[in-house]
Amino acid sequence: MTTMLGDNNFDIIIIGGGIVGLGAAYKLQKAFPTFKVLVLEKEDTLAAHQTGHNSGVIHSGIYYKPGSYKAKNCKTGRLELVEFCKEHKIAHDICGKVIVATEEWELPQLEKIYNHGIQNETEGIEKIGPDRIKEVEPYCTGIAGLWVPCTGIVHFVGVTQKMAELIQGINPLSKVLTGYEVKDIENDNNQKIVITNKGKFTGKKLVFCAGLQADRLAKKDGVEDLDMQIVGFRGDYYELTDEAKHKVKNLIYPVPNPQFPFLGVHFTRMWNGDIECGPNAVFTFKREGYGKLDFDLKDTSQALSFKGTWNLLFDNFGFAVNEYKRAFSKKLFHKQLQRLIPALQITDLKPGRAGVRAMALKPDGKMIDDFKIEYKDNSLHVLNAPSPAATAALAIGEEVRMMAQQHFNL
Ligand SMILES: Cc1cc2nc3c(=O)[nH]c(=O)nc-3n(C[C@H](O)[C@H](O)[C@H](O)COP(=O)(O)OP(=O)(O)OC[C@H]3O[C@@H](n4cnc5c(N)ncnc54)[C@H](O)[C@@H]3O)c2cc1C
Repeated sequence: MTTMLGDNNFDIIIIGGGIVGLGAAYKLQKAFPTFKVLVLEKEDTLAAHQTGHNSGVIHSGIYYKPGSYKAKNCKTGRLELVEFCKEHKIAHDICGKVIVATEEWELPQLEKIYNHGIQNETEGIEKIGPDRIKEVEPYCTGIAGLWVPCTGIVHFVGVTQKMAELIQGINPLSKVLTGYEVKDIENDNNQKIVITNKGKFTGKKLVFCAGLQADRLAKKDGVEDLDMQIVGFRGDYYELTDEAKHKVKNLIYPVPNPQFPFLGVHFTRMWNGDIECGPNAVFTFKREGYGKLDFDLKDTSQALSFKGTWNLLFDNFGFAVNEYKRAFSKKLFHKQLQRLIPALQITDLKPGRAGVRAMALKPDGKMIDDFKIEYKDNSLHVLNAPSPAATAALAIGEEVRMMAQQHFNL
């Protein structure tokens, strides 16, 4: 590849300025310092969607199916992320977390998580009993638990911004542009023309990391045979009032329902000292909508005309109804949280933020559990990067770098 390119011509264009896009851009720029790299983000700031609306937890990797990309990349990404935060002085704390069973029927699932942790070589995990749970989290009550010391908290937006800064430091001709929405892609003589709301850019190769819009951009880039669609699942949070913050020291998680790729409502100390409780998981009528009543006609009609959505809803009707009820009832949300902290009062909770997860759904209604990156005609598409992709962003970036080297003949 030549690097003597005009102002609007780039070696590689990355679409999407979340942590995965910046992770990929950073790894590519580091590996090829003379390349002109361009990142295009449609919002006015980086990390404006999933990355900036998540729980801020550095996941250990304990939950994921051994041998999966999630398991592998969560651990390697976490280790790299922690080093990155230390080197660049980004707020983080490896404070550890507890996963707590409150009822007998949760014990086999807790055991399964422990076994996954052992197989995934999650450092330092320990089975603990009620007394040790109290020692770690004095207000939490459970019959058994797991102590996961390598879990932590971090400012993911700060990580994303730092990677953008570093890219431009490596090659001053590279750019990270916000407020540039990619509208279409055209092919021209083995190059790709990226058409945005503010003009055209030419890229020899493209990498798509568009999160909640991943499927739509893949189609614009000519990927016709996608057998998945992105569906948004909103997660609402409450926050603990200042007076109640002492009831949570760090991170308290329930035993998750194995049927769903969500971890269950949990307590999270954030990097800024706030304590959040959530998120639930409700099907959303607007992919980038953070209010409970948000609605978008295109998003809704696309979701409802996809048979995967109906299959998912029919298969999980009870769960969906309960999550909806809880989204509108503080009392029910509080009851769920009280399973972990019985002394939690409803007045300890105040409304908090929300985030929307991009879940890749197959026509049969099953969610694609693992990370998914595909190559097609000079483009790489990150089609599924759900949790723990923020933790794993540097490892996913490395995966993109390796795939780019292989497929783009760099
Ligand atoms: C509620 C919630 C809690 C979570 N908690 C955790 C956690 O604690 N730990 C963890 O590791 N992970 C967590 N996750 C998952 C994690 O946040 C995501 O996996 C990760 O942020 C995905 O990053 P991304 O860059 O792929 O997506 P995003 O951050 O959504 O970025 C995609 C970007 O692409 C841009 N874009 C889209 N279309 C266009 C276009 N046409 N032109 C230009 N730009 C475009 C968007 O504006 C957006 O900024 C959570 C997610 C949610 C929603």
